[in-house]
Amino acid sequence: MSVFASNGCYFSSLLAESGCADHCFGTAQADPPRPWLELKQVHSARVIPAEQWQPGIEADGIATSVADTRLAVKTADCVPLLLLDPVRRAAAAVHAGWRGAAKGIAMGAVRLLGERFDSRPEDLLAALGPAIGECCYEVGPEVAVQFRDWFPERNDLDRRTHIDLRRALERQLVAAGLEAEHIDLAEVCTCCGGAQFHSWRRDGAAAGRMFSVIALRKAG
Ligand SMILES: [Zn+2]
Repeated sequence: MSVFASNGCYFSSLLAESGCADHCFGTAQADPPRPWLELKQVHSARVIPAEQWQPGIEADGIATSVADTRLAVKTADCVPLLLLDPVRRAAAAVHAGWRGAAKGIAMGAVRLLGERFDSRPEDLLAALGPAIGECCYEVGPEVAVQFRDWFPERNDLDRRTHIDLRRALERQLVAAGLEAEHIDLAEVCTCCGGAQFHSWRRDGAAAGRMFSVIALRKAG
């Protein structure tokens, strides 16, 4: 299990090898192919089925069982999470910054896939794309303390410290029932990883956005 780069984008080998979806983590150098369904992301834990999508809808995750419906999230340091159920054929795209992660959005996405599409957590494949790494993600105690559930082994969350958002989300996915070996995690950091990434923390309000997209293929 690994995440690899090709033509300026990143890909999860788990998702790619499933053969039942196309996906892409875009970078500052390359976008996935359009068109796609895009959300007005508001750092919530709200994940919607694509049938509810309309322009400007506020949510931070979207899921579908319809082939060729391209689901997108945009990030610049936050974590793009793509989920795929190759058995029931369903997919989801999720945007998770610290607020969404603290609210448990990864578990919410797994729950929605189960409710809407009968997805079983043990069938799900997940990929966490390029995002700010623990190296650069220093946060105050008001943020750190919200990760106590996900890092129970740490005793420094009551003060200024570093948080690994992807690791927190990975633990949420495992808590939701995913197999650890069904989770791909990019180790690159958008903040110190160079000009191939947009980074809010590095570039401030001028930061661009990177798009991550997943679309189911037709069964065949
Ligand atoms: Zn870094």
